[in-house]
Amino acid sequence: MSSSVSPATSAHPASEQLKRWDREIVWHGFTQMAEYEPLVIDRAEGCTLIDVDGRRLIDGVSSLWCNVHGHRHPKIDNAIRGQLDKIAHCTSLGSSNSTTVELSKRLVDITPEGLSHVFYAGDGASGVEVALKMAFQYWQQCDTPRPTKKKFIALGQAYHGDTIGSVSLGGIDLFHSLFGPLLFHVERVPAPDTYRLPEGVSQEDACDYYIGQLEELLAREHEQIAAMVVEPLVQGAAGMIMQPPGYLRRVRELTERYDVLLVVDEVATGFGRTGTMFACEQEGVAPDLLCVAKGLTGGYLAMSATLANDRVYNAFLGEYADLRSFFHGHTYGGNPLAAAAAIATLDVFEEEHTIAGLSAKIGRIEQHLERIARLPHVGSVRQRGMMVGIELVQNCETKEPFDWQERRGARACQHATENGVWLRPLGNVVVVMPPLAISLNEIDQIMTAAENGIVAATTD
Ligand SMILES: *Cc1c(COP(=O)(O)O)cnc(C)c1O
Repeated sequence: MSSSVSPATSAHPASEQLKRWDREIVWHGFTQMAEYEPLVIDRAEGCTLIDVDGRRLIDGVSSLWCNVHGHRHPKIDNAIRGQLDKIAHCTSLGSSNSTTVELSKRLVDITPEGLSHVFYAGDGASGVEVALKMAFQYWQQCDTPRPTKKKFIALGQAYHGDTIGSVSLGGIDLFHSLFGPLLFHVERVPAPDTYRLPEGVSQEDACDYYIGQLEELLAREHEQIAAMVVEPLVQGAAGMIMQPPGYLRRVRELTERYDVLLVVDEVATGFGRTGTMFACEQEGVAPDLLCVAKGLTGGYLAMSATLANDRVYNAFLGEYADLRSFFHGHTYGGNPLAAAAAIATLDVFEEEHTIAGLSAKIGRIEQHLERIARLPHVGSVRQRGMMVGIELVQNCETKEPFDWQERRGARACQHATENGVWLRPLGNVVVVMPPLAISLNEIDQIMTAAENGIVAATTD
């Protein structure tokens, strides 16, 4: 048996050996290891992943929402190789490097008005931590300090990452309640969900209703609130919850009126995912702090950026002895290899007119969803650009969910994976979120596999 080949006698361990080590040694996130079935990817071509047995799988969720232009894009590959000939890493604490400076200028140029300073960290969660600490420190030391402003507002079912600060903001009970004793208190307003509306609230009234809830909270608590943190347009990990049009714009108006900073978390929505470069653009919103990560490097390397406007940034300027510096920094923040990948990613957006090319793909997904929406256990199909959630329910009339223990979403995705399309669900929501580089033909394959998986998982 090939698994008896040891690494000492072979340049690369055989696939059975790798799968055994993967099952026994590697501890995977959000995965029950006792029942884990190894899926070990070895390489990729474009939007297709290839595992150690040579099995080909279309990457239907962008390697967890981060791949943008496909895998092994020559432009991005070459940018990283070129950077290796200069330097792989140097620190951003008190010094800089040419590639990271260039990326910073590019980011300021493409993000919403007023965001003119960039702070780097390693992943989305730490980018959110940076925004939280900036907002907190801001009120302690701005021109007219407001030391009572120490709390944050977050949305119901929010997801901002898995570190303790970002979990405190999080509102997904399944992930977050266990850690309750470690978390700080957050003021929460209901998730602006247009599928599961509260009793008596119509679609037309949804925006007014959710904004009303927020205004009540702000009117009462604004003296205590440092910032509000939102995922714009779509709450991804919550199950692709879609906000009513106008919600984000009115959140911006209210936070301005009540003098509360607005932090927008575009870790999932940024870099074209919702059909525009940033989701904020669709509502004409410029936040005080913006977090980006996942798609920033095209899905190649770990990097996040937290962008701040002058109002926030200027509060951190002063004499050395004033102790107004931002007291935070990560060893690998601003890593030049990641920055090179990010610059190349932005270049590809321009050269391949990626955003302009999306409307045909978005339309194609929509066509498939019209059909899938009519399946007996599909309660809702939700799409914003290239972000899609298909919610499976027990009863479409009452929206009664399937028992989570039946794992309908996982079964649908497992079926799709066996048919050549790798998908990963969020509970009973089947997620489709392919790389922006996906072809129309690949979209057809993904949507057909998702449909067949849903039929298989809901017929019993
Ligand atoms: C994925 C995600 C994060 C966390 O990013 P990591 O890189 O996984 O730490 C934060 N916010 C949102 C909206 C996300 O989707």
